[in-house]
Amino acid sequence: MNMEKLLETGFAFHGHRCPAMPLGIRAAVAAMDRLGVQRSQDKELYVISETGRGHAAGCFLDGIMVATGCTYGKSNIEKLYHNKLAFTLVDVASGRAVRALIRPEFLESMMDSPFVRLRKEGVPPQDIDPEIAEPLINRVLSMPQDTFLILKDVKPPVLERRGGDFEVVRCDRCGEAGFATAFVRTATGHLCKACQ
Ligand SMILES: [Zn+2]
Ligand SMILES: [Zn+2]
Repeated sequence: MNMEKLLETGFAFHGHRCPAMPLGIRAAVAAMDRLGVQRSQDKELYVISETGRGHAAGCFLDGIMVATGCTYGKSNIEKLYHNKLAFTLVDVASGRAVRALIRPEFLESMMDSPFVRLRKEGVPPQDIDPEIAEPLINRVLSMPQDTFLILKDVKPPVLERRGGDFEVVRCDRCGEAGFATAFVRTATGHLCKACQ
C-alpha cells in the first residue's frame, strides 16, 4: 500500500483524525524500509509494541497495525505495556529486527500541542476542530524522519512458533465449539476454558 492508501485505510479503521495514528504509520513504514520488508500478508512480520493502555497517543499503535499488517486477529503482535511510543519490528524469516522509538523531545512537544491540550480538557478526538487537527497531521506527514524517530537494529527476540490450530471440538458441558488447543481433554470428551 502506498502512503495515501495507508492513511485512508488507517483513518477509516481508527475512527477519527488525530496526529498519533499517522505517526504510527510513518514510524512503521520507516522500520519496514530499514528491514526491506513488505506489509505482512500472513505472519511474515511480528510487532512487539511498548505502548500501554489508556495513555495519550495510544492511537500510535493503530497506525503500526495498519502499516505492518500485524494485527491482533492474526496474533502477530503483542503489547508490553511499558507506556512508551516504541516498538520492535521482526522479519520472521530472516530473524532480523529493528526497534523504533519516538524521540523524547518530539513526544514532549506532542503533549504540548493544541490537540492534546483539548484532549486533556476532555474534548473527544472526533470533536476537535479540523483547523487544529489537520495542520498537526500534515506536520507529522511532512517532517523529516530524523526529527521524530530513532531506529536501531536490535537482537531479534525469541518468538513462540505456532502453527494454525485446525481441530474444532465441542465442550461436553456447554456444547459450544472452539479450537482444541485451549480445551481440556476429559475421559468423555472436552471442556472449554469457561466450563473448567
Ligand atoms: Zn487517534
Ligand atoms: Zn463449555
